[in-house]
Amino acid sequence: MTEPPLALLAELTHRCPLQCPYCSNPVALNGPGEELSTAEWTRVFQEAAALGCLQIHLSGGEPMARRDLVELTAAASAAGLYTNLITSGVLMDAPRLAALRDAGLEHVQLSVQDAEAASADRIANLPGGHAKKLVAAQLVRDAGLALTLNAVVHRQNLDRLPDLIELALAMEAGRLEVAHVQYYGWALANRAALLPTRAQLDAATATVTRARAELRGRLVIDYVVPDYHASRPKACMGGWGRRFLAVSPAGRILPCHAAESIEGMVFPNVHDTALHAAWFGAEAFTRFRGTAWMPAPCQGCANAEQDWGGCRCQAFALVGDAAATDPACALSPHHHLLAEALDEAASSDSSYRYRRL
Ligand code: SF4
Ligand code: SF4
Repeated sequence: MTEPPLALLAELTHRCPLQCPYCSNPVALNGPGEELSTAEWTRVFQEAAALGCLQIHLSGGEPMARRDLVELTAAASAAGLYTNLITSGVLMDAPRLAALRDAGLEHVQLSVQDAEAASADRIANLPGGHAKKLVAAQLVRDAGLALTLNAVVHRQNLDRLPDLIELALAMEAGRLEVAHVQYYGWALANRAALLPTRAQLDAATATVTRARAELRGRLVIDYVVPDYHASRPKACMGGWGRRFLAVSPAGRILPCHAAESIEGMVFPNVHDTALHAAWFGAEAFTRFRGTAWMPAPCQGCANAEQDWGGCRCQAFALVGDAAATDPACALSPHHHLLAEALDEAASSDSSYRYRRL
């Protein structure tokens, strides 16, 4: 039986002052003229709550680029959703944060590009951006809101993971998400500059193991081994159409924020489809839900209901077929593609193709 989703990822806008080369937004970004209005988002939040969602992640792009963010936060809170803001922090100031808190905001997830300012600003292509994030963390703390630090890691910052853990402690974050880059969209375009080496990964894993033991009760650290060094895929989004749904700035209803990277797939839009109808009936959601769609070697595999065959976007990005077994699995006939990408990255330079509207 299909359960309702737990959470809605509301991508309020693709506008962002930063230009991270690993941004999870699609390469074809939605312009400001395509964005849903305040009233449309409010209806979407109400539909999400009625569908059974418990949480909303107000995301982007940079959600603080929306002038109506306080109104949107109030609407999400009034709908009964636990409200989390995913932000780069560079547009944050004390009055706005106080207004968001008073509107019902409960949690802030702040992203950092690195622990070292010069490197962080180069990755985001925004001089002075890192300094603004340090101020933003202080503002979140002063506002009494719960804080998670989100550190996206890759070859050009992974060696500073111990410093990122120190940064999370200095910011008094309750949780640190060490998020390895997922390679689709902009990140796929920059893969050769971003893929970490095996030695870097092993050092990072040892760092996390040590820090988790030392910091028990002070800092929770989320960490998953990245696909390109894995032999089994992750249960992407907890399984396609099982736990989460996302709505893009232009109103497309998606099983995951990267799903638009799958060419040829048609997604319903909130302009003409209710979230309930999309979740339970749209082909975009039912196509890869459960296990019946799976090819060999997933079909009948003991792990099928643990990893759900891995990531559909990654299968499309690497094999050109969203219905293929995720190449992150050692049983996939395409697993060799990951080793080949790692070899290519080892001899590549570190220049970026920056995300741009
Ligand atoms: S990943 Fe970087 S560029 Fe993309 S939305 Fe987040 S802060 Fe902006
Ligand atoms: S064969 Fe499929 S179900 Fe089995 S471990 Fe690999 S990806 Fe998972």
